[in-house]
This record gives sequence, structure tokens and C-alpha cells, in this order.
Amino acid sequence: MVKNDSLQRIKGIGEKTSRLFNELGVFDIEDLVHFYPIRYLPYEELVSIEELTADNNAAVSARIISSPKTIRAGKLKITEAYIEDYSGKIRCVWYNCPYIVTNITKEKEYVFSGKVTERKGKRVIEHPVIYDLNEYRKMAGGLQPVYRTVRGLSQKIVRKAVSCALSEFSFGEDFLPVDIREKYGLVDNDTAGRTIHQANSSSALEQARKRVVFDEFFNFLYSIKRLKNNPVAKSEFIINTENILDEFAAKLDFSLTGDQIQAVRDIFGDFKNGKVMNRLLQGDVGSGKTIVSLIAMYAVCRSGYQSVIMVPTEVLASQHYQTCMKIFADFEDKPRIGLLTGSMSNKEKKAMHEEIESGRVDIIIGTHAVIQDSVVFHDAGLVVTDEQHRFGVKQRERLADNGKSPHVLVMSATPIPRTLAVILYGDLDISTIMTKPDGRLPVKNAVIIPKDRGKAYRTILDQINAGHQAYIICPMIEENEAVEAENVIDYTSKIKCIFPENIVVQFLHGRMSPEEKNNIMCSFANGDINILISTTVVEVGVDVPNATVMMIENAERFGLATLHQLRGRVGRGDDQSYCIFVRTSDSEVSKQRLKVVGDSNDGFFIASEDLRLRGPGEILGQAQSGDMRFELGNIYTDADILDLARECCEYIDTSDFRPDDDEFIRFRKHMEDYRDKRLINLSI
Ligand code: ADP
Ligand code: MG
Repeated sequence: MVKNDSLQRIKGIGEKTSRLFNELGVFDIEDLVHFYPIRYLPYEELVSIEELTADNNAAVSARIISSPKTIRAGKLKITEAYIEDYSGKIRCVWYNCPYIVTNITKEKEYVFSGKVTERKGKRVIEHPVIYDLNEYRKMAGGLQPVYRTVRGLSQKIVRKAVSCALSEFSFGEDFLPVDIREKYGLVDNDTAGRTIHQANSSSALEQARKRVVFDEFFNFLYSIKRLKNNPVAKSEFIINTENILDEFAAKLDFSLTGDQIQAVRDIFGDFKNGKVMNRLLQGDVGSGKTIVSLIAMYAVCRSGYQSVIMVPTEVLASQHYQTCMKIFADFEDKPRIGLLTGSMSNKEKKAMHEEIESGRVDIIIGTHAVIQDSVVFHDAGLVVTDEQHRFGVKQRERLADNGKSPHVLVMSATPIPRTLAVILYGDLDISTIMTKPDGRLPVKNAVIIPKDRGKAYRTILDQINAGHQAYIICPMIEENEAVEAENVIDYTSKIKCIFPENIVVQFLHGRMSPEEKNNIMCSFANGDINILISTTVVEVGVDVPNATVMMIENAERFGLATLHQLRGRVGRGDDQSYCIFVRTSDSEVSKQRLKVVGDSNDGFFIASEDLRLRGPGEILGQAQSGDMRFELGNIYTDADILDLARECCEYIDTSDFRPDDDEFIRFRKHMEDYRDKRLINLSI
């Protein structure tokens, strides 16, 4: 079997089963061998029936002694049979598998493996898996893979398919030269690829996992490194930064934090050193990144060049526009500011394009799609991207290509470990804002259940009476029969009934026209709306410091990163803020996940817990662009392997690395394939 062979080459897989595999993202044989187990169960050592105790998993070798009977209980078909060995007999039950015992020869010994429970004082083996005795003996002591599946596709079918694929699949010669494998203590790819599915021991599994995770990280890092390996160019934009910081700071009604000042100094250092700046400014939500970029843009403007700031949403674009207007209001030499967004008419856009091309505006604010389209800059010396994690690698590169190389500043609230940032962004320098502005009180959190909503509304009302404003976040826009989740439209009517009449309640969602959205956000920012009921359109960047309370309905339906971003909308002023998460599911997972955001305001911690709590399966299913995810590897908990992979990337570029020709060709071919197949879909 070769890589791209169809799944139907495997015995027992027809069109229908093949489609079920497709749902799991498995389309060909290669996908199947890389479809890793989500966990493992031990193949239990065989015991006698006498020794079975309730609430344990166990395996016995026994014969079926009664003819299996199947009865119906509602939708359920229950099949039962008695089995016996020298020490005694026991009942086995199977659910919805009436055919499970049809292929069994009476009087022959099989292994029955499952969970033992007690019912009405009698022991039962629940839904045991049946194995051929000799086959089982070979596997005993090993680890049984458990895969992610969909309805209609049993573990057994998946296991069989994987094992069949593996028996004929060739991993080919290892792309990593022996020398490298030895240096980093890695098993070869064939061993790893097989053992990850069929391990005899946990130490063998660990070795296999190390190699697989290493490959995931290495492939990614090495490719990214290539992608970004352009030598640092000399800059044509020399920017005079003298007195800028002092002048600017003097106009602000707050003082900059130490980290903000340091970030500005870092940027100014880059402006002076004659090379093109490539800097990442990272800082948790609300840490005050915008102002840092404004100071940089102001300096660029004073030296006679343009600056561009790109943001992911229209709401954010107009908000930045207003911030700029306000901040620069009493500057003697005001920069001229231009706004460019998708909702503008073609005529307006064209006019703005002309302004930009002729250099009549100094600071251009806009959504990224619009700015990239067909804009010709007069003389862009600085390009800033806000909430950078929303942009793909390609978009970023394209921007930097625009005419002469401008300085580039990317701002991101996605908390990633510093070492990882260095690896990922390669040639980027990094400034980090660690501390929030003085006087900020940490947001107080509460996770509540629906029956406590009354108390939450009380808190909201108290805040409004104290002159503040509130957000309520709902997962959906309109009622959806399939899912019971709050929707903004109905919720708004409900809230209007509950709260006193003088309280202004308004809803906001992504399907409104950009103009409508902007108007509503402006009224909210001006304090004309008391409660804004919204979908996650307010997630990114929105800044209304007077809003001090946020309530999130059906909170378990959002990812932890999203919850943290949402919460970042409050706690932006000097007053105590509150965030209330309404948990409408009783599942353990929901409880655990909400506990993480409920207990911590630390974006870094939340991101790492998020990865830990989600199984690899779920991660794949919900992969969002912008998130950095690997199938097995976890950038936080596998930090040591990540580091090895990084070290290895560097080693390969040194003169000590001398593979022979074959090895080198293999390595190169592998990396090219990887890039073609995988990297296109990744964005960081
Ligand atoms: P983010 O880093 O999430 O983009 P913003 O730049 O939107 O954060 O800043 C959040 C809020 O904090 C804004 O209202 C901003 O005016 C305010 N702010 C920024 N720096 C300071 C500071 N040094 N002191 C007080 N408030 C500040
Ligand atoms: Mg921001």
C-alpha cells in the first residue's frame, strides 16, 4: 500500500465506512497511519472468572456455554450469554451488537475483556471485546489504542483498519539522518510510526511519542525558519525620534507604564539603527499596546512618512480612528488621519486611495483586507498590525513587500512563551508588556448556574446605578431549534422586561451592517447604552473603559481563549470590574474549563490549561486559523521536545552537520512535501 491509496483498499472498508473516516479527517492510507490514538488501555493479564471483582477492567479466557439471547429494551438491544472457565461462570452483556456472538464457535476458548460490574448482587462483564486466545497472548501486557471516532464507526473497525494499513504500509527511509537521530535520542520513524499505535510497553510508547512529537515540531519550525530567512534589509526610512516620547507623554492624561516606555524605546532603537524593524509587541488584553503603536506612528509622521495600522474588524478600525482623533486633538502638528474600511462606498474608497497615494494622509487605519487590496502608499515607513494572531504568514509577508520595505510592528495578545515566540517569529524582535497600567484592579470572576441569574442581574443593575455599563454575551443571534442556547434577540426582549424601563438595552451581532455595528459601538462608547447584548463580535480589541461588568451566557460553549479575550473588555479603567460566567452544562469538562477562567486572569496560564484540557481530537475538530496546534505535541507540556526540535533546526545549518548525498536529498524532499501539504493551512 502506498500513501495516497484509497481507504477502500483495506479489507472490510467500503464506501460507507470510508465516508465515516472522512468525517474524522482521514482520507487515505497515509492519513490513517497518522491518525493517532487519543489514549491507551492496557491489555489486561488474563485472570480466572473466580478472581473477577466489580468495578475493574479485566480479561478472562473462557468458553460460551449458553446460546446468546437478544432482548429489546426500548431502543436498546441487549445481548447476553454465559461464559465459563475452570473456576466458575459469569454473565456477559452487549449493547446494540446482536451479531457479536454469531461468529463464535461454542466450546472454543476466547478472551473476553471488559469492565466487570455488579448487578443485583451478581457480577457481569459489560460489553466485553472478544479476542482469539493466541492473538491475545501475543498482545498481553501491551497497550490497546483508543481512537477518536464518530457514530457508526466502532473502535474495533478503526483498530483493524489501522493495523491492516500498518501491516502493508511503508514509512520509507527515515528523513532524519542517523547522525541526527543519535544526537537527539530519537527512534527511527518506522518504529515510532508503528509503536504509537501498537505499543508493547509504556516506555516504548514514550519513545515513539517523543519521535512523533519531535517530527511535528521540527517540520513546522524548520519550514517556518526557511520561510522567514530573509536577511535583515537596510532601511530607507530613517526616523528622527528626538523628544517624541516626552512630547507625547506630556499630552496624555495618564502616565505610561514602565513596560510601555521600554517598548517605545525598543522601537525607537530600531528606527535609528538603519535596518528594517521587525518587532512583535506582545501583551495581555488591556495592557495598553495601542498607545505604544500611536507613539511610533507619530514619530514616523514627524519624519515625513506614512504609517498604516491594520486591524481585523471594522468595529476596531473605527474605534482606533476615534482614539486617534481624540489623542491628537490638541497637538500642534496633528497627523492627518485616514480611515479605510469595507463598508465605505466605492467612491469613498477611491477618494481615500487617492489621499493615500498622494500622501495627503499620514496615518491610515483600516481593515486588513481593504488595505491590502489595491492601495498604493505614497511613502509608508511603518506598518502596524493589531491582533496579529489573526493574520496568516502570507498576509504579513505581502504587506512587507509593499514598495520599499517599511518597518513592521505586529501586536498580539496571544500569550506564547518567549522562547517559542523567538522560534516562531524567527527574525522578529520582541517587546513584552508584562504589567497592566497602574491602578487596575484584577477582574473579579464568578461562575454561576442558571438559577443564580437573578443575583447576576442585581450586580449588573448596581453597576449601572453607579454610572457604569455592562456587556452580556450570548452565543447566538437567533433562535435555533437544534441548539438550546441563548440568542441575543430574544435575550434582549427578556432583559428589557426584567430591568427598569429607563435602562437602555441594545443588541449587537455580526450579521448587522458594518455601519449599524459602528453606530451601536459609538453609542455604547459614549455611554448612551447601558447594557449591550452581543455575540462575540466584541471579542477583539474593543475598548470602553466605563464598562465594568460582563456576563457570559452558556459560557461553556466558548473556547477558553475566547472567554479570556471577551473578559478583556472589562477591567480597562480604574474601577473594580466583574465577569460572570453562566454555566448551563453540568458536564465535568465544562466545570473544569470554567474553573480555569474563573480562578485566573492570567492569559498565559489559561492558554496552557486550554491545551491541556482539550483532547487532541477536539483540538483538531475545532482548529481555528490563528491557533497553533499540533496533533500530538503540546507546546507547553512538551516544551522540552520543542526545545530539542529548535536546537536541531539550528544544528542543521551548521558546518558540523554533514549528511551524505542520499540523506540530504531525502531530507530536502521530505521538507518540500511537508510545506506543500501542511504549511499552506497553518497560520500563526
Ligand atoms: P490592548 O493592549 O488590549 O490593545 P489598549 O491599548 O486598548 O489595550 O488599552 C486599554 C485601555 O487602557 C485603553 O483605554 C487605554 O487608553 C488605557 N491605557 C493605556 N495605557 C495606559 C496607562 N499607562 N495608564 C492608564 N490607562 C492606560
Ligand atoms: Mg488592542
